[in-house]
Amino acid sequence: MLHIETIADLRSACDRARSDGRRVGLVPTMGFLHEGHRSLMRAARATCDFVVVTIFVNPLQFGAGEDLDRYPRDLTGDLAQCEQVGVAAVFAPSVAEMYPSGRPLTTVHVEGLTSDLCGAARPTHFDGVATVVTKLFAATGSCTAFFGRKDAQQLAVINRLVEDVNLPVQVVGCPIVREPDGLARSSRNAYLSLDQRRAALALSRALQAAASAAIAGERDPSALVDLVRGLVATEPTVALEYVEVRSAPELARVDVLDGEVLLAIAAKVGETRLIDNVTLTVRGAEVHADLGTTELRSEGVRQ
Ligand code: AMP
Repeated sequence: MLHIETIADLRSACDRARSDGRRVGLVPTMGFLHEGHRSLMRAARATCDFVVVTIFVNPLQFGAGEDLDRYPRDLTGDLAQCEQVGVAAVFAPSVAEMYPSGRPLTTVHVEGLTSDLCGAARPTHFDGVATVVTKLFAATGSCTAFFGRKDAQQLAVINRLVEDVNLPVQVVGCPIVREPDGLARSSRNAYLSLDQRRAALALSRALQAAASAAIAGERDPSALVDLVRGLVATEPTVALEYVEVRSAPELARVDVLDGEVLLAIAAKVGETRLIDNVTLTVRGAEVHADLGTTELRSEGVRQ
């Protein structure tokens, strides 16, 4: 497995792979890898023969007072996991390599999709994401890029970015990976105490209950929002930031559940901000709820 630290080396490794007739798969991450990330790597391996994982805690997507300085990092463990999954190359650049002149003067802003939901509490976040992802796409070149549906708004932003400026990238959204008790995997789960982790389960439980209500016939988005609010309120240490029902992938407000809709949630448990969602596909009386996949067992690597 190649361990690449410069943009020039990433570009030449990907050019070489393509000229050898290989398909390049890209999995952008901030590291401290877990089963959610590994599922993206495996999805990439299934269709691409040169898989690049990027590991970069991107300062641009953290706001003032957020957790940039204490974001968990473990490059040695991450490299071992990538090797184990059969990744061809890991690109783990320094901040100076990515932003040699400091804060870039050129940034990428995806209008409309970025100002509410998570963008309301994190007004500069998606500009940081769109900018770093554009830089990674530019360095990698033509590829298939894999992103988790856990970050549903991020996925919508990246899809729109690729469409708007015709980047040579095929974007694939992958299912949310949950721990056996339903908690969505996140590098930030490492911040949670045992009590907080137990309280955080209210989020996935509430989404599951709302999905069941939709399956039982509920079509009023505000009824689902109220149900989620009520269930999360049973855990006083969980502070809801938003619960929203939106159309997918446009993220527009909806009056009635129909077609593909996203029920998305963000909350703080102590200082830790968590997000989660369920996708509901409603066709008449039929409802399919996609909460992602639940791990059945531990894998002997970091949990
Ligand atoms: P991060 O390292 O948190 O920036 O995440 C890197 C990629 O992994 C993003 O595309 C995330 O959506 C994806 N990801 C993170 N957690 C999960 C999860 N539990 N299930 C699926 N994908 C995930």
